[in-house]
Amino acid sequence: MIYFKDGEYLQEEQMNLSMNDRGYVFGDGVYEVIKVYDGVLYTAEEHMERLLESAAKIRLTLPYTLEQLVGIAERLLQENELSVGHIYLQVTRGVAPRVHQFPDHSVSPVLTGYTVENPRPLEQLDKGAAMKSVEDMRWLRCDIKSLNLLGNVLAKQEAVEQGCQEALFVRDGIVREGSASNVFGIKDGILHTHPANNFILNGITRRVVLQLASDLSIPVQEKEFTLAEALAMDEFFFTSTNAEITPVVTIDRQPIGEGIPGPLTRQLQKLFDEQIPALVAA
Ligand code: PMP
Repeated sequence: MIYFKDGEYLQEEQMNLSMNDRGYVFGDGVYEVIKVYDGVLYTAEEHMERLLESAAKIRLTLPYTLEQLVGIAERLLQENELSVGHIYLQVTRGVAPRVHQFPDHSVSPVLTGYTVENPRPLEQLDKGAAMKSVEDMRWLRCDIKSLNLLGNVLAKQEAVEQGCQEALFVRDGIVREGSASNVFGIKDGILHTHPANNFILNGITRRVVLQLASDLSIPVQEKEFTLAEALAMDEFFFTSTNAEITPVVTIDRQPIGEGIPGPLTRQLQKLFDEQIPALVAA
């Protein structure tokens, strides 16, 4: 496996990370996960743009352009001959003695990356998943793709311990998003999802789904809804780079609609499949 670190492509043994890296001691950094289908990057520009935005929101200046970042992802997937999987990229505020305030300007951010081979979750895409609602204890800047994921980690663990595949964050009675995904409900033919604000990460897959819904002339409401409203939806699904459009068949053990993936969810999945690189979708 070839890794990327600060301009170099390295073997694992050559990778040298510092104990004083602010990503390690503070989670002071941001990251991205970019999907690769059939050896081709999917929505890479959108992911790199979000990486630059996340960095800017934590006042970290990345010494790379969007085009350079796409080039790094491209080279990584070629070096590792990645067919289906994803590229992980993260940037931290750099290496400096452990004090909370930013280090001085002589300290450069540390950009690292690697590839992960993993197949599409075809069985889950077909059968659907179970969600468990959990209290959203995260901070108020969920729009930043921060390395700080403790709230997400604890939520996912709670869901998994209950035999569920994903957690459903609820804050002030409002359904926000999954522990690593965005969520959508369908009621009477209308697609509902949380507005893109500080309470959620504006997922790239979320944006793709909103475009697909528009292509299918499905009306969309980007408005808050409650857990009770979620439970009363006809259909429900969560989206992410790796989970794509995963139907949700139960929330807190209660069936959604008929307790099977719904027809509009299936239509969106089909359209999604049609716009990813052909060989893998086949
Ligand atoms: N929300 C959270 C909290 C996430 O971690 C993710 C996955 N990165 C998403 C939403 C979905 O984002 P995307 O579609 O860009 O993968």
